[in-house]
Amino acid sequence: MTFCLRKLRPIYTINYHHLDISNPKSAPIPLRHIQTLGTDINSHRTLHDAPLPPQEYLNPPHNTVQLSYKNTPLITRIRSTLKTDLYLSAIQQTICKQEAWSINQFHHIDWPAHGYAFHRAWSTKWITLTKLAHKLLNTNEQDMRYYGKTDLCPCCNLQSESLLHVFTCSSPVVITFRHTQQDILWKHLSLINTPTEIAQAIQTGILSLESVSTDGDSSQQLSPMVLDAFEQQVILGWDAFLRGRISVAWQIAYAGGPDLRDKASLKWAGQLVIHVLNYSQQLWKFRCGVLHGHTKEEMRQRHRAELLENIQAAYDEHANDPFCIPSDWRQLFNRPYSLLALSDRDTLSCWLRSFTVARQQQELTMASDQRAASRFFKPARSSDSSPLSSISSTDASSCDSTSCSADSVTLSDSGDEDDDSISLLLELAPFDRLITSPDDLPG
Ligand SMILES: [Zn+2]
Repeated sequence: MTFCLRKLRPIYTINYHHLDISNPKSAPIPLRHIQTLGTDINSHRTLHDAPLPPQEYLNPPHNTVQLSYKNTPLITRIRSTLKTDLYLSAIQQTICKQEAWSINQFHHIDWPAHGYAFHRAWSTKWITLTKLAHKLLNTNEQDMRYYGKTDLCPCCNLQSESLLHVFTCSSPVVITFRHTQQDILWKHLSLINTPTEIAQAIQTGILSLESVSTDGDSSQQLSPMVLDAFEQQVILGWDAFLRGRISVAWQIAYAGGPDLRDKASLKWAGQLVIHVLNYSQQLWKFRCGVLHGHTKEEMRQRHRAELLENIQAAYDEHANDPFCIPSDWRQLFNRPYSLLALSDRDTLSCWLRSFTVARQQQELTMASDQRAASRFFKPARSSDSSPLSSISSTDASSCDSTSCSADSVTLSDSGDEDDDSISLLLELAPFDRLITSPDDLPG
């Protein structure tokens, strides 16, 4: 609880009591009230800042501490109560911003059913389900935003791949798979005893995402409570429904009224969320299968093909420009591509990583050389121009002192063998004079 006490607002109170053992013959041992913390509602002070009772009263077993929350003793669910109080407001704001909801709409979501579904899911699925619920799955739309890759859907290659597109992709293979999963979902709805008209309304809503027309105007045939649930879900969004954020009106329609004390309706709504999340997760898994392979063997083959494609591109690049990597890395290309292509995936991955490092190193070297060259060939100012005859190899005034010093450093660092020829060039052709004929050269 220490982490919570640092931030608790003063709506909490902690009452310290001390067991008065000065007279051990008296039974029961009276509790002597020592101190109450956190009752100052108007204070912005946290309990952590409040002064504690004297140390002798804190040492067990001669003291008791009672934590109260909003004037009610907090005995059970302490951690969840404290967490809710600390983080609920921030989570509400984040979700409302993501979904473009008002706070009122936020409270129309059946969060108890949402919590029911998450608590009954395997812990290994929590991360995936949380990403799904919060639209954090790594779609190609996110890849483009963060990594500059293509945002086209890997299944249809026609549209930008958002999470909504994953639920509604028009690729024939995806449609076939989705229809199979929808049949499974309808079957599960009947297994959890979903009333027919509620199941019908849910089917209409999910199919409306795909712009699939259903038989007739089914909304005309719905009872008022189911119709209200359907309309509330339209406002909240059917894509939100597929991410487990269902309207609380579904549970009201199932229970037949706003009295939700019956645990059966919560259980039904929670199971509905579980099956809807499973349906959405299957669509996402199929999309990932199209991209990376549906089986382990298929994934291995695709990975190998991708590695070979990148290595072939590296060989082509090196054939066109042998200076794309530093000279001391050229042993990478000692083996012909046909031999390297026979290696296992680990070898191919290592080779590709080495090539990437070599290429980055060469790019850094070339960038550094370009900066040095731009300083070296920087034109002199026109005011510094002087007749060629007045220039001598020892005359430093014709040359910018900074450029000269930079040049000398560059030449000495690189160990260039053409020092003499460059000096001669400087002597014969200062930067501020154009040599157009042999007569312009000094005698
Ligand atoms: Zn698609």
